[in-house]
Amino acid sequence: MAVPGVTHHPLRSRYEVVIAGGGIQGIALAYELALMGVRDIAVVEARWPGAGGTGRNGEMIRSAFASEEWARLFDFSLRRWGELSAELDFNTLFTTAGYVVVATTADEVAMLRDQLPVHDRLGVRSEWLDAADLQELLPAAAPDLLTGGVLQPHAGFAHHDATLWAYARAASRRGVEIHAQAPVEAVDVADGRVRGVIVRGQRISTPVVVNATGAFAREVAAMAGVELPTQRYLLEMIVTESLKPFLRPAVASLALMSYCHQTSRGEFVGGTEFKAANAYDDVVVTLEALRDIASKFVQLFPRIAGACLIRHWSGLVDKSPDLSPVLGPSPDVEGFFLDAGWTYGFMGAPGSARLLARWIVDGQPDPVIAPFGFERFASGKLISEAATVVPTEEAVEETQRDRA
Ligand SMILES: Cc1cc2nc3c(=O)[nH]c(=O)nc-3n(C[C@H](O)[C@H](O)[C@H](O)COP(=O)(O)OP(=O)(O)OC[C@H]3O[C@@H](n4cnc5c(N)ncnc54)[C@H](O)[C@@H]3O)c2cc1C
Repeated sequence: MAVPGVTHHPLRSRYEVVIAGGGIQGIALAYELALMGVRDIAVVEARWPGAGGTGRNGEMIRSAFASEEWARLFDFSLRRWGELSAELDFNTLFTTAGYVVVATTADEVAMLRDQLPVHDRLGVRSEWLDAADLQELLPAAAPDLLTGGVLQPHAGFAHHDATLWAYARAASRRGVEIHAQAPVEAVDVADGRVRGVIVRGQRISTPVVVNATGAFAREVAAMAGVELPTQRYLLEMIVTESLKPFLRPAVASLALMSYCHQTSRGEFVGGTEFKAANAYDDVVVTLEALRDIASKFVQLFPRIAGACLIRHWSGLVDKSPDLSPVLGPSPDVEGFFLDAGWTYGFMGAPGSARLLARWIVDGQPDPVIAPFGFERFASGKLISEAATVVPTEEAVEETQRDRA
């Protein structure tokens, strides 16, 4: 299917900005840069726009995170989600069905409760639900898993393809060139600054390169001599046949390391996380993951036992040591910017794209995006975010030890 806004013209020999990677991050950033008046922007995508995590994700959107850094960035993004369809003149199918993160154990309850003062202070709209509230909100869920939870009534989900197309069309209308089948093969750096890139064997000169290549960001950074401490990570999901509506909000269960929602057509869409990070270089699906997904969701929603699967698929994401995105200039190569390390890069894109575009244009970070800069790895100011459904390095190592 053709993605709107993709050009079939040849690449030119010079651009003001070259963005490597035509996922939601790269294309939303191109749109925001064009909106700020930057001209001559090219997005060069190795395969097709949306080929990476963008076209394969669970589409869920929230901002009620535990750390101040995440809550600020993702809440800025959530507010942008509410504006996007009108602004881009294309329906992203953003649905404010709510998003509830559910705790089962006492530790999970304590961790979620600790977030609430942070949300209050930052103006993030969230509310605490006890077991009885949760049973009312999620009547189909197993009550023994519902001890307490944080609901964001204005969060929810959107359509990942529609959102990418919306941005791509709006960006191309503002003069952005989006090139498919155009992999960055090398980055030309001289005297500590970016000079250009090689794409399909062709040299393109540019003073600014943004690395938005998702799971391949580490390799593309290495082309510029930048050591990016991220690693690839495989996630798998399923979608069932249409079922009678039983679930209104998106749900994440901390105990089951799972997230899911039911679409307006009735399909149940969900994924779970293993403790073990699977380092694959391409998308594969595994029986181990399918068993994990099926057993956990039948435990959470017993009524889906016996439902037919329509698809089981996977996608790769880029994971940084503190699970947080790595945004802004690279430390040693002037003009080489990072838009990498995203595990929640769909929901984060509308906000991060705007703030990263400002950083590139103004040369200064907004306080909301500043904590996500690369220098945190040198300064040791890593971000500690507890409310993600992503296994930590320690959990991964523990599982790998168990398996050995
Ligand atoms: C199964 C699954 C479920 C998920 N669920 C959610 C969710 O519910 N909510 C959420 O917010 N996030 C979710 N995510 C994560 C989210 O999809 C990613 O964080 C997001 O897509 C990152 O966007 P991106 O543009 O940085 O990367 P991608 O979408 O991966 O795009 C990177 C692009 O770069 C291209 N590329 C690679 N190498 C090169 C090169 N050398 N030159 C040029 N281009 C190159 C790739 O082909 C790709 O198209 C999920 C991911 C998966 C896989």
